[in-house]
Amino acid sequence: MPKRTLIVGGGAAGFFTAIRRAECFPEEEITILERGKAVLEKVRISGGGRCNVTHACWEPKELVKFYPRGGKELLGPFHKFACGDTMGWFGDQGVELKIEDDGRVFPVSDNSQTIIDCLWQAAKRRGVRVLTRTRVSKIIAPPQATPDGVWTILAGEERFEAETLVLTTGSNPAVWKMLEGLGHRLVPPVPSLFAFDTKDTRLRNLSGISLPWSQVHIEGQKLRAEGPLLITHRGMSGPAILRLSAWGARELAPKKYHFTLVVNWLAMRPQDVAEKLQELRKTEAKRQLSARAYLDLPLRLWKSLVAAAGIPDAQQWSQLSNAQRDALTEQLTAARFSITGKSTNKEEFVTAGGVDLREIDFRSFRSKIHPSLLLAGEVLDIDAITGGFNFQAAWTGGYLAGSSESG
Ligand SMILES: Cc1cc2nc3c(=O)[nH]c(=O)nc-3n(C[C@H](O)[C@H](O)[C@H](O)COP(=O)(O)OP(=O)(O)OC[C@H]3O[C@@H](n4cnc5c(N)ncnc54)[C@H](O)[C@@H]3O)c2cc1C
Repeated sequence: MPKRTLIVGGGAAGFFTAIRRAECFPEEEITILERGKAVLEKVRISGGGRCNVTHACWEPKELVKFYPRGGKELLGPFHKFACGDTMGWFGDQGVELKIEDDGRVFPVSDNSQTIIDCLWQAAKRRGVRVLTRTRVSKIIAPPQATPDGVWTILAGEERFEAETLVLTTGSNPAVWKMLEGLGHRLVPPVPSLFAFDTKDTRLRNLSGISLPWSQVHIEGQKLRAEGPLLITHRGMSGPAILRLSAWGARELAPKKYHFTLVVNWLAMRPQDVAEKLQELRKTEAKRQLSARAYLDLPLRLWKSLVAAAGIPDAQQWSQLSNAQRDALTEQLTAARFSITGKSTNKEEFVTAGGVDLREIDFRSFRSKIHPSLLLAGEVLDIDAITGGFNFQAAWTGGYLAGSSESG
């Protein structure tokens, strides 16, 4: 009888595992069990419907820096399969990819369906069986003493058996509970990649304004990030904020997302900004401070910060006192905002937490507790900032789990 592999979860990691496994072990019978009525649903909605497949980052040592959790563990795996390999793999399947200016990689079609079709066809061509509407409700491990033992999987009335079990169920709490039952330790889940809410009046009516490069940090903590920043109708978002939310996912959860955010809109040193203002006091002496925008800031934001510094609307540059200059410098480089909650970032979000990484052998993504159990993707305590890195972790884990010898 051929050896059987059951893969629970028909997402990115599940499909990549199945495809690679079918290549490495063509004699195996490989089945994906998916609870939904369709597979690869997260791929469909990913990247605003465009699917940010990976990132143009070629050095494993650089790549791991984008992972707040799992970076250290992924270093070895990235030496075996990383972003360049992902691009090469999709290219070999006939999918044209493009690299955008910020390094994100998308299909040229700008349509996630291209990636879904590619994975679906690659799996089908290699004989992978896919069963949808099959929600796994119970996992029974093989008896410890039996080498080559058999896993029993229950899904409603149905019962499946396999020598190798792969869990690629993403962040499903019910499966994490089953894994605890199997003796695995779990790092409690918390959201990552979210926007910050604030009711601060300085941002009133500024929704839609974006800054090309800002620095943000959380007062009283070491957490810092930089990048483009977007003012939204609820507060702030954009890469700088999402990065901070990812690095701060664990610390911010117990605070219930109430903290003080410090924003340097210009990503400039305060003394350099103060000098610029000093210069403007001379060169713009007869002009009103609020008549036009300075320092490349959008006019509406500039006016709001000038007002917040206590400078009257009609005041001329020549009348700028040193105290006003310092107050404006502070608004420009260290504006403090009281954050009162978080909002979902619709483009991409993930869960931090999952199976404790100490219990995984990262050469093969094999459980150290059950040698015939493999785990890949978001079910593990691995997550990244936005930009294609989360899928890359799923492709890499799937590739290595797929290559891993049975039991
Ligand atoms: C809106 C959004 C946009 C995103 N965009 C991007 C992006 O552009 N680039 C990027 O890198 N990352 C993106 N991400 C993150 C990325 O989607 C995930 O990191 C990735 O999908 C994880 O893959 P996975 O296979 O581990 O899990 P999933 O894709 O979540 O797949 C898990 C599968 O398991 C199934 N399952 C769960 N429990 C069971 C069960 N008991 N029985 C059977 N089946 C089960 C689920 O139905 C699901 O199909 C985005 C996330 C979201 C939410």
